[in-house]
Amino acid sequence: MVLATGNLGKVREISQLIGDVVELIPYEGALPEETGTTYAENAYIKAKAAFDKYNLPSLADDSGLEVDFLGGQPGVHSNRFMGLKSDQEKYMRILELLEGVPWQKRTARFRCLVCYVDRTGAAHYFEGVAEGYIATEPAGEGGFGYDPVFYYPPLQKTFAQLPAQVKNQISHRSQAFLRFKEYYLSTIESMRTTRRGGEDKNE
Ligand code: IMP
Repeated sequence: MVLATGNLGKVREISQLIGDVVELIPYEGALPEETGTTYAENAYIKAKAAFDKYNLPSLADDSGLEVDFLGGQPGVHSNRFMGLKSDQEKYMRILELLEGVPWQKRTARFRCLVCYVDRTGAAHYFEGVAEGYIATEPAGEGGFGYDPVFYYPPLQKTFAQLPAQVKNQISHRSQAFLRFKEYYLSTIESMRTTRRGGEDKNE
């Protein structure tokens, strides 16, 4: 199965989650631009491009940070928020925009949409969400993107303060890919049952 990303780190991370069920190969070359207005559209654009190029079932994900006080921004624009380049500029801008906002109004979530294009070309979607708060100052050195300002209450730490293995177990991305895995295993199981049923009739 193709994972429609050129990011080998992502291939490694996702392989740790679902590699026991499917073998993932990275997409080589440039992926089409993410011109969709939703995570689902962007994930589909990438998964469909991989399906067309390799003629294999394909997976892609798209994700972002939704800050309630900002009406859900940056959302699907997380990667190119306000034209800012570095991760640090982007998360510092979020902190500025939330300056003085009380804790209970700083709710936010990371959302991830996985699109699976199966061997018939049909698309299936799986969602994962991690709920938290925008911290009042950055903390932690790990992770990437908005991790230093995303405070995750169940572990009382920002995502950037968590070891990678811990974040990878609870993140929006891992939840979405684990939902895909459950679905994929259930389709294999139902194919087996159908085949067994057919064999029984032939006996
Ligand atoms: P992508 O769709 O996974 O490439 O994510 C798009 C953008 O959302 C990234 O460039 C980050 O700015 C942000 N983002 C997505 N997932 C995470 C995460 O786990 N931590 C921090 N930022 C993230």
